[in-house]
Amino acid sequence: MDRNNYFITLLVPVYNEHESINSFYDEVTRTLHEIEGHYEILFVNDGSKDDSVQIIKKLIARDSRVALVNLSRNFGKEAAMTAGLRHASGDAVIPIDVDLQDPPELIIEFVKAWLDKGYDMVYGIRVDRSQDTPLKRLTAGAFYRVFNVMTNKVHIPVNAGDFRLIDRRVIDAINQLPERNRFMKGIFAWAGFSSYGIPYERPERHEGSSKFNYWKLWNFALDGIVSFSSMPLRIWSYIGGVLAVIASCYMVYIISKTLILGNNVPGYASTMCAILFLGSVQLISIGILGEYVSRIFIEVKNRPVYILENIYRNSKSSVSHGETKEVELSEEAADTNESRQ
Ligand code: UDP
Ligand code: MG
Repeated sequence: MDRNNYFITLLVPVYNEHESINSFYDEVTRTLHEIEGHYEILFVNDGSKDDSVQIIKKLIARDSRVALVNLSRNFGKEAAMTAGLRHASGDAVIPIDVDLQDPPELIIEFVKAWLDKGYDMVYGIRVDRSQDTPLKRLTAGAFYRVFNVMTNKVHIPVNAGDFRLIDRRVIDAINQLPERNRFMKGIFAWAGFSSYGIPYERPERHEGSSKFNYWKLWNFALDGIVSFSSMPLRIWSYIGGVLAVIASCYMVYIISKTLILGNNVPGYASTMCAILFLGSVQLISIGILGEYVSRIFIEVKNRPVYILENIYRNSKSSVSHGETKEVELSEEAADTNESRQ
């Protein structure tokens, strides 16, 4: 990579973040003054219901480095990142949250490790999760352990988020993946290539509030495990096998006892135990089958991961993709846009 002539895309998913966008833009442009190469800030609006889009359009009109990929509705952060990766033009892409929880100063270190040491992926590791609640820390820790035990080839680095630098080679590989279940942390790890972690302290969210509650996080974790491991499916054959051995032993015991001591009809408790235990084991295993079948259902429907409303760029922007419809914004266009609201 030419040290002075590289191009970086900052990929910024946005969902109802009108309080954060301007301070994010100010902070990032101030920090990236230091780097030699060029960059674009590619916002992906994931169906915000507030005025995030208007704020971004105003930035586009002012600064030709800013662009917007606007999705037709809220598809979730993973889909927004997928959209951003497909429309990013950088030699490297850095997904970064708009809430300033991913410190922009770290970008400079990412770029250094990428240019100097030639890593294809440089990710940030959260060393200090004290900003998270104890329950979140506990569940996050458990997730990384369970995920890495269940997937024997794909290992996601513990406490690494989406904030990372990804080289074009890796992005091209990821963009070829046809699957609809986009658990990006897993996909990044699955792609392989050389990677390097840089520790950092994750600050609190500056403005607004987190878009993820525990129920969303649970489903996110389930998506991750089910799309990268078939162990939950296979484990039932083993559980079934062990239970069959235990049941056979018990059968031999009951039959011998009846033959030797005669039948005095007790056994209600043991019968109930067997029925309830086996019933619940069967329900759990059917539930797990359901998790996989529902994901197969989603995959075979073959719907796109996201739908574009449009792409907005500054009329002076040098970057263009051609194959998608793009709207060019100039200062006047942004104003008329706004007055139409
Ligand atoms: N986000 C998104 N779509 C969603 C939820 C979140 O694009 O459905 C974006 C959000 O705007 C932010 C990033 O994903 O830029 C991370 O979200 P958040 O800060 O709420 O997550 P947390 O830091 O609490 O894990
Ligand atoms: Mg956040």
